[in-house]
Amino acid sequence: MPVLVMKFGGTSVATLDRIRRAAKRVGVEVAKGYDVIVIVSAMSGKTNELVGWVNETSPMYDAREYDAVVSSGENVTAGLMALTLQEMDVPARSWQGWQVPVKTTSAHSSARIEEIPSGNIMAKFKQGMRVAVVSGFQGVSPEGRITTLGRGGSDTTAVAFAAAFGAERCDIYTDVDGVYTTDPRVSAKARKLDKIAFEEMLELASLGAKVLQTRSVELAMRYKVKLRVLSSFEEQSDTAGTLVCDEEEIMESNVVAGVAFSRDEAKMTLVSVADRPGIAATIFTALSEAGVNVDMIVQNIAEEGRTDMTWSCPNDQVKRAEKAMETAKQEGVIRFGEMIADMDVAKVSVVGIGMRSHTGVAAKMFRVLSNEGINIKVITTSEIKISVLIDRKYMELAVQALHDAFELEKSS
Ligand code: ADP
Ligand code: ASP
Ligand code: MG
Repeated sequence: MPVLVMKFGGTSVATLDRIRRAAKRVGVEVAKGYDVIVIVSAMSGKTNELVGWVNETSPMYDAREYDAVVSSGENVTAGLMALTLQEMDVPARSWQGWQVPVKTTSAHSSARIEEIPSGNIMAKFKQGMRVAVVSGFQGVSPEGRITTLGRGGSDTTAVAFAAAFGAERCDIYTDVDGVYTTDPRVSAKARKLDKIAFEEMLELASLGAKVLQTRSVELAMRYKVKLRVLSSFEEQSDTAGTLVCDEEEIMESNVVAGVAFSRDEAKMTLVSVADRPGIAATIFTALSEAGVNVDMIVQNIAEEGRTDMTWSCPNDQVKRAEKAMETAKQEGVIRFGEMIADMDVAKVSVVGIGMRSHTGVAAKMFRVLSNEGINIKVITTSEIKISVLIDRKYMELAVQALHDAFELEKSS
């Protein structure tokens, strides 16, 4: 029988009632003749609570135990979903990551899936089981320890299962009815897209649109998984939601497809570092060894052989970055004057494959921000995106102004 993957996020399984509603959706697909793999997240808020408990118990926690605790939310939902389906007379059972097994690397809290052998679940499908309910977000390391895939990781579990089982489609059920031109919580004018290209979705996700985890889009692109995002709160047809697909499948599109943002950024500056070969290498090696994910980088014009080096990173990594720089200073590896951390910044980005062939997008973006009196602190560009770092208090304003200026509420 054809296989379908259906993933339900936290808000879609937040209560027993919502689990029942999701289970009914699954029942509809089973009745159509699919064997279904259901991937579930923890009930909404549960993972945050578990992360909080770990931090309170042990601030410098053992990442293996973090994963043991934080992965548990999904197991509760998987069991409850299987029970709900059984109550509806749908033959179902739950599977934790290690039982499948979902084999991952041992990079605890941000592990990557390496392999999902399909034998165990397929054997059960052959015996008459119709639904395998799998705990999302988790796997097992080569050492036999439980791992997790990074926040939002159940999306990646879902796509990886769709690839491993050759599923006809991977449906991501969430609390919005598709992918929008920007987060509908920030702009009331956000427009739902019927289709979005993999590359655009990849950029939007990595620039902060958390509707899909970045890695899930990468996997879908690589393994040609038919990926759809849709609402678990509405009755759905086979064409509802947003299809994430190849660029060629989209007939017409705007130059800019969407606006993404990330609140959790910080800007750090080392004042007065030597302007000579090797200095950037030394600074960024030390940061990378300390596990700091540097994003944007600017080196100012040098004066009298000294310059300032600025970068952005997630704001919860600032302490780690400061420690790495202080240590390097004490060890005499780097010399600098002051170190400044600005925690009140946000990143706003416009994304679109149309930028490859259209000029003027950057100029327009900067003009729009300047008309709103918003100062740009750092800029980065790639072929299909432009990102700026601005004061966080202007983030919503910037998103809305850019959405208006690029007329994203209208389709081309
Ligand atoms: P789930 O718990 O189902 O995984 P998430 O909260 O992870 O759901 O992702 C869905 C949320 O993503 C939406 O509620 C929305 O606020 C946010 N979001 C951000 N950018 C976008 C976008 N471009 N389109 C749709 N939703 C977006
Ligand atoms: N429950 C996990 C999280 O909140 C994984 C997920 O929902 O995708 O990050
Ligand atoms: Mg999510």
